[in-house]
Amino acid sequence: MKVLGVDLGGTYIKAAVVNEKGDIFWKKTVETPAGYEAVAETIAQLALEVIEKHEIVGVGIGTPGSIDHEKGVVRYSPNLKWRDVPFADLVTKKSGCKTYIENDANAFVLGEKWFGAARGCEHVVALTFGTGIGGGVISHGRLITGHMGIGAELGHIIVEPYGPLCGCGSRGCLESIASASAVARLAKQWLVKYPGSMMLEMVEDEERIDARVVFEAYKKGDLLATIVVEYVSDAIARAVGAYVQFFNPEVIVFGGGMARSADVFIPLVERRAPLYMMPSFVGTYRIVKSELLEDAGIKGAASIVFENLKYGGRGKNGTE
Ligand SMILES: [Zn+2]
Repeated sequence: MKVLGVDLGGTYIKAAVVNEKGDIFWKKTVETPAGYEAVAETIAQLALEVIEKHEIVGVGIGTPGSIDHEKGVVRYSPNLKWRDVPFADLVTKKSGCKTYIENDANAFVLGEKWFGAARGCEHVVALTFGTGIGGGVISHGRLITGHMGIGAELGHIIVEPYGPLCGCGSRGCLESIASASAVARLAKQWLVKYPGSMMLEMVEDEERIDARVVFEAYKKGDLLATIVVEYVSDAIARAVGAYVQFFNPEVIVFGGGMARSADVFIPLVERRAPLYMMPSFVGTYRIVKSELLEDAGIKGAASIVFENLKYGGRGKNGTE
């Protein structure tokens, strides 16, 4: 059985034909046009391109923002600047192929459950570390989304009251300390106190310091990078302590661009997390790096369809 997985971003639409084992048969990236009608048309065209040859049984779309997955409506998309767009129906009508839509972080955790690091797991917490921090939770094999479908905003748990201002308006959210952009911001902010940092030599212009540079400098023993990475890891550990106590997961998956450096910060988070949980939770979970990385968006989107086909939608009593 094959489906079309679509990773819908503000700049690009990435699409792939994926089967239930996660094998990719076809892949295409196109620029995101302006306006939801044009975007729906573009995705429908991509579906029509492959529908017969690959016998596509559904289209799954993952996109950032507040998504009402049951009604297939984009409630609010900060990237695309859409409000209350019944997008899944639009694509279904234009392509003739049943279309499902889900928040990208929820799609990510589904993708890891179907094809990645959480295969075979019933209780999963997933975080994506990018410009912001997205989150998804699977409990008893099913996605937890709350009554409006917008729950599991794990990146906005407050780990440091009165901490840095977050894009959401609160202070000290995990996202304001441990997202890839926050890591870069902290390093640049504290550079004035540690002018001897090797990070200055690693980039031509200090504005180009990003999370990858910070983690590279950490590996080389740079003091400022060490201070940033330890501070960030401690913030993540505090959040992990809360998630572990709330959801009792078997596995916590770290994904997103910053997960490429996860080998550096996972051990630090693992070491500190027990400080922030009851003793009964210590040693009950694993923290792992995403196995999907480059393909996380499209495979996550594809898994939305498999999840819906398996459970028949996520309405009350498992009915649509
Ligand atoms: Zn926030």
